[in-house]
Amino acid sequence: MATNAPVPVLLVDDLSANLLALEGLLQRDDLVLLKAQSGEEALELLLQNDVALALLDVQMPGMDGFELAEIMRGSERTRHVPIIFVTAGSSDSQRQFRGYEAGAVDFIAKPIEPHVLRSKANVFIDLYCQRRQIAAQRDELAVSAAALREADRAKDQFLAVLAHELRNPVAALMSGLDLLNRQRAPDQAEMIRGQMERMLFHLARLVEDLLDVSRISEGKVSLKTGRISLEDVLLSAVEGSRHNIDAAGHSLTVEMPETPVWLEADYTRLAQIVANLLNNAAKYTPAGGEIGLSASADEAGVEIRVSDNGVGIPADMQARIFEIFTQVENHRAHAQGGLGIGLALVRRLVSLHGGSISVTSGGQGKGSTFTVRLPVMQGQVDEIGAAPLVPKG
Ligand code: ADP
Repeated sequence: MATNAPVPVLLVDDLSANLLALEGLLQRDDLVLLKAQSGEEALELLLQNDVALALLDVQMPGMDGFELAEIMRGSERTRHVPIIFVTAGSSDSQRQFRGYEAGAVDFIAKPIEPHVLRSKANVFIDLYCQRRQIAAQRDELAVSAAALREADRAKDQFLAVLAHELRNPVAALMSGLDLLNRQRAPDQAEMIRGQMERMLFHLARLVEDLLDVSRISEGKVSLKTGRISLEDVLLSAVEGSRHNIDAAGHSLTVEMPETPVWLEADYTRLAQIVANLLNNAAKYTPAGGEIGLSASADEAGVEIRVSDNGVGIPADMQARIFEIFTQVENHRAHAQGGLGIGLALVRRLVSLHGGSISVTSGGQGKGSTFTVRLPVMQGQVDEIGAAPLVPKG
């Protein structure tokens, strides 16, 4: 329940004039006063509301205040509701109420002194609010604890996968080195060297990405921004991923904005972002697929889109894949030794630029489109103070 929701208070009296009087005395914006003219009506209201306090008239025809209180104490749901009995005279308070041990009980005599009623009621209302706040904090803590457990589990899983992923290339490098050292297969030396180079490159990339993520998390990465050409950055990213796109026999379509665009950004990091998305498009698309890279710009900023017609991403994973070490379960066969770091790194680099990244996909087998939005940055105004993104040439 919201901690600022109105607090329900139950008023029970068989006489409507008395109920109105009680209501007038307790009226406050933060309270909901629930009125009942009999014990039965009161029990019905108690079934639907978690009340902070019940004000019970003792003398009522049928079920009287004490009987109602005993029923309340007998039920788990209403056992701990604090009760103030409104008594008509001394004979009332002499009657025994069995049930003191279960919760707070107080008495107030008629004629009611307004300030006495309010201060007695306020004690219970304040207690209720504090309890509600504690319950809300407990719920928040439970959510954080669950998130921490999940993060811990993801890290454990990551360590296991990392160890496994490192063991294979390290073993292959060792046997390659061994073969070269012994000159067992001189005619294959070139091929072995090539394989070793690719594995080393893969390992170096993994380590670099991991270091990047942790450096960014610790706030140790700052952008080297300058005035750069969007076209140059995109071409450099294509260059960086060309090998993987060609190796899988994909076609690549590039659509640049009609007029060239300058922007204030970190050239290397932006190229890294786009190359990462292009490499993923190449990895997660079956051979002979179609990959698209397009960009557009207006006063609000730049939008870069990388699309593919590959394996797609199920709806429930679309937000999660930007979390570190998160991979779609049945994509592992395509991951080529990836560990679910790339998109986390991309998202962090995009947000260092003040931008955002999102993905859309029709689902399994329906391809994916990643969209990076970079806002206009401070200092992105050209020398004559014209529009921040200005046509080149
Ligand atoms: P990696 O590719 O190393 O597993 P990433 O962080 O780059 O790590 O990607 C996380 C996950 O997102 C991938 O494992 C894959 O399941 C999914 N993914 C990323 N890009 C695509 C894409 N273009 N098409 C389908 N799934 C993708």
